[in-house]
Amino acid sequence: MNSSTSNPALAKARIAVLGYGSQGRAHALNLRDSGLDVVVGLRQGGPSWQRARAEGFNVAEPADAVKGADLVAVLTPDMVQPALYREAIAPHIKPGAALLFAHGFNVHFGQIAPRADIDVVLVAPKGPGALVRSEYERGRGVPCLYAVHQNASGHAEAKAKAYADGIGGGRALLIETDFKEETETDLFGEQAVLCGGASELVVKGFETLVEAGYKPEIAYYEVMHELKLIVDLFYEGGLKRMLEFVSETAQYGDYVSGPRVVDAGTKQRMKAVLTDIQDGTFARNWIAEYQAGLPNYKRLKQADLDHPIEQVGAKLRARMPWLQNATPKPAAEPLK
Ligand code: NDP
Ligand code: MG
Ligand code: MG
Repeated sequence: MNSSTSNPALAKARIAVLGYGSQGRAHALNLRDSGLDVVVGLRQGGPSWQRARAEGFNVAEPADAVKGADLVAVLTPDMVQPALYREAIAPHIKPGAALLFAHGFNVHFGQIAPRADIDVVLVAPKGPGALVRSEYERGRGVPCLYAVHQNASGHAEAKAKAYADGIGGGRALLIETDFKEETETDLFGEQAVLCGGASELVVKGFETLVEAGYKPEIAYYEVMHELKLIVDLFYEGGLKRMLEFVSETAQYGDYVSGPRVVDAGTKQRMKAVLTDIQDGTFARNWIAEYQAGLPNYKRLKQADLDHPIEQVGAKLRARMPWLQNATPKPAAEPLK
């Protein structure tokens, strides 16, 4: 379809992509369009099996996909990877082949101890799978982090870069990192700022307005709905672009009130979150929670879903048809 990959490190390689969700589907499609030989590894009867077949892939059980592959990309949810490694990868991966991750969690926190005779690398696109695919189709790519954890063949870095080229990342930007940096910064970002920090800021702002007697509908617009406008401006042009678009009054309020809400104490607590990530406390707790059947995860998730901001939000969004399915759901959701 598109021009074949120019990077010789994987020229005649067979690549097994395990998982066909957000990242797996995008990687498999892009690698195939880059001229590489791709087999998709999935559980037969799972929801992704039919989809990958329908999209023209050779699909096999993970162990069979791994046999004979020169590179195995592990693109299933992180928590299922240790068992997948033990059962389908370790017994079958060829000596000298490469094992590739898109997130360093399991290797960095010792949940997967890869065989010594294989390469272990990381290629992590800085964007969701849908964007990895759509940018590739436009002839562009999404920047990727890459890292080498283990270099058994002597060619691990070249293979990681060739894979990043194959999914389009080489057209944009490749940034070298290591498993520790990628894992710890990824966890910190999602906990302190992106998912944890942002959602708590919104919910606390909503509660403050509603408890002061303002209408929940109006509070919703002010603290959740309009957040997108601000985030889009950050995304496009940083703080500068946001400040160019908001009123002088909003800017002055930002300068004097922002630091009252998110202050030095917040930063201290961010550091405590980072310490828990660095010393393995978070990983240990999360793995124990997963193994116990997710009791706290389920309870905390339900509490978020039951918050009044969710009821008023659902009612308001139903009257804004342009929001319905604006972002397609990932092919498969982790951790139901
Ligand atoms: P998904 O949750 O989208 O993966 C779901 C896929 O994995 C489905 O195809 C599912 O198949 C398959 N799967 C689940 N369990 C197994 C199993 N035991 N054996 C084989 N296949 C299985 O994953 P993501 O794409 O979100 O994440 C993949 C990796 O990429 C993770 O390491 C993640 O941290 C990393 N990453 C993710 C990003 C993202 O944007 N989501 C960004 C950067 C990195 P079925 O449907 O049949 O159950
Ligand atoms: Mg993450
Ligand atoms: Mg929250």
